[in-house]
Amino acid sequence: MSTITNHMPTAELQALDAAHHMHPFSANGPLGKEGARVITRAKGVYLTDSEGEEILDAMAGLWCVNIGYGRDELADAAARQMRELPYYNTFFKTTHVPAIALAAKLAELAPGDLNHVFFAAGGSEANDTNIRLVRTYWAEKGHADKNIIISRKNAYHGSSVGSASLGGMVGMHAQGGIPIPNIHHINQPNWWAEGGDMTPEEFGLARARELEEAIQELGEDRVAAFIAEPVQGAGGVIVAPETYWPEIQRICDKYDILLIADEVICGFGRTGNWFGSQTVGIRPDIMTIAKGLSSGYAPIGGSIVNDEIAEVIGNTEFNHGYTYSGHPVAAAVALENLRILEEEKIVEHVRDVAAPYLKQKWEALADHPLVGEAKIVGMMASIALTPDKASRAKFASEPGTIGYICRDRCFGNNLIMRHVGDRLIISPPLVLTLSDIDEMFERILKSLDEAQADII
Ligand code: PLP
Repeated sequence: MSTITNHMPTAELQALDAAHHMHPFSANGPLGKEGARVITRAKGVYLTDSEGEEILDAMAGLWCVNIGYGRDELADAAARQMRELPYYNTFFKTTHVPAIALAAKLAELAPGDLNHVFFAAGGSEANDTNIRLVRTYWAEKGHADKNIIISRKNAYHGSSVGSASLGGMVGMHAQGGIPIPNIHHINQPNWWAEGGDMTPEEFGLARARELEEAIQELGEDRVAAFIAEPVQGAGGVIVAPETYWPEIQRICDKYDILLIADEVICGFGRTGNWFGSQTVGIRPDIMTIAKGLSSGYAPIGGSIVNDEIAEVIGNTEFNHGYTYSGHPVAAAVALENLRILEEEKIVEHVRDVAAPYLKQKWEALADHPLVGEAKIVGMMASIALTPDKASRAKFASEPGTIGYICRDRCFGNNLIMRHVGDRLIISPPLVLTLSDIDEMFERILKSLDEAQADII
């Protein structure tokens, strides 16, 4: 077979892709016939495809390329580390400098007493770690039955068996025999779709109190932890009403339930603080991290745990770990990424410059005839599509049909925006400039207008 390169005709690349490559979260049969778009290069906030089209990536890949594409410093950090020590593990009484330095840096950045890091290769693995961490923690404290983890419907915590069980995605639970036992799901704080006649504030409290009801029903001595994303990402960028998180924190404190904040999307500046937990005002015992940790340049994730959990787990041999836990190349890349985030004040750029400008424009989208609510936290945002704002009505078509039409129009206009059912979402690179934002809005409005014409 001849060498496959960027210079081959798109159709040939697509044919080989269809013949051999199984895409995640895709119906590979129809996708193969349609042909996947071949991305060849990227720089800043723009992708280039095999036809030479420039695409504005308003999703930062999969919510991960926080510092933008094409930063040579990360490539150099990877090459340096590969030459010096491409791989070694940290299992059997060994360690190495990139893992030490990254763990220490994360302990410095993470709030409160979150001072200890267990590394993984991504968010799913890290959440699997969390399941075993919290159950082992309680077992070590003499409460082996305190092993139920409460999560939320429509949450996304990853795609491995354990993390997908924590997640609350109906479509995922329909395949492959999940959830595993002792995971319990309560309702999500999605006021637009489920708030009924309640005010957002009433609804936020009611949904938080479902956690208390679940604990009382399952038994305080059975519930180990509650896990949630500070802002639900893959569920459609669902921003909880302001009353929600203080009540969740109160309940976790009252019943001695560990709080796991899944920061895989919200971490590393996305919400205008280093961590989403700081934005929503919670004190997690464990944080899941991945994605923005390396800006997606290398696969790395982890669990940051507090002093108490680390001490208790430290009393036993924790029979858990991955070949790539603390991978030196990925750790070196992550360290360089954190250096750039810090030295270039990218979190401050989000908080003081980009997010306020984006917010003002985003919220104005609610004036478009197709749009109901427009929600935004930092650099993650969503709009709910509706045929009638006043009643928050759903479209008569199969859920997701209108969202898909809009997303397709965006794709056609060289804008990557995602749809979750009939919500459209963005999560752009954090380095988006104000003129990038203007350009993005031109494409969004054009796509929405075209979609509206398609629907009528
Ligand atoms: N947790 C959250 C909140 C996520 O959004 C994701 C991925 O999108 C994951 C966990 C899983 O991370 P990964 O895909 O790196 O396994």
